[in-house]
Amino acid sequence: MRYVGGQREAGCVFCNRLAERNDPESLILWRGEHAFAIMNLFPYNTGHIMLVPNEHVAGPEDADPRALTEIAEQMPSVLRALRRALNCDGFNLGTNVGATAGAGIASHLHEHVVPRWLGDANFMPILATTMVMPELVPVTYAKLRAEIGRELGRGPRCAVAVVDVEGDLVLSDGADGLPIAEAAPDEPMWKAAIRVAREAAPDRTMDVCWAGSDSANGPIALGVSVDQLPGNLSGWIEPDSLSESGDRMAALRAMHEARRVAERRNPDR
Ligand SMILES: [Zn+2]
Repeated sequence: MRYVGGQREAGCVFCNRLAERNDPESLILWRGEHAFAIMNLFPYNTGHIMLVPNEHVAGPEDADPRALTEIAEQMPSVLRALRRALNCDGFNLGTNVGATAGAGIASHLHEHVVPRWLGDANFMPILATTMVMPELVPVTYAKLRAEIGRELGRGPRCAVAVVDVEGDLVLSDGADGLPIAEAAPDEPMWKAAIRVAREAAPDRTMDVCWAGSDSANGPIALGVSVDQLPGNLSGWIEPDSLSESGDRMAALRAMHEARRVAERRNPDR
């Protein structure tokens, strides 16, 4: 619910997000040369994303053809990423041009990609102005960004920041770096990350949370928060002992998110 409501902002939401430089906050998943992908803050369904030309144009007839080409070229990667991360069965793809046609943000062209599951509740927004959101948007963002990074040639591996909910200890690879998760061909990166965390903290409750660089095309790491540390703390170190690399930044972000996860679970904290 913290994503619903709030004030209407001045100007164009797409242009505003694109101009910002904190992609996890803006929910930008990918930045191309002429177009970008962003998650919908008011999704019809989990994983609802939009592909948007960088240029502020209302319709395809005004758009730079290179933006349209880039969006078309990126689509297969986006769909593969969604399928792997969310295990969806199908998609609605489409563009509403003009307010008359139902465009929510009519002045800036965008193509919707809405994942669908067998028996999902996508009629809910239409029938009851009710949305079913089984997963928080930033968690979906983390899962998708790891998959899109994989599609963009980083391969099926990423660093994993496993932290306790207090953020006091982080799992190390034994050399003061973060452990690396390697995903099997059809395995989503976030499940590979959970696998790494489970080996270190069996029988604990885990949540995927975000970790990684501020730029959508920068290094990827997945954060996993663990509700309780295992009895044996070998391999767990203080975040300050992490080596000075991108890992450290990832762990710091993971700790931040882990705390937010903990607060959601227990609002009194
Ligand atoms: Zn715009």
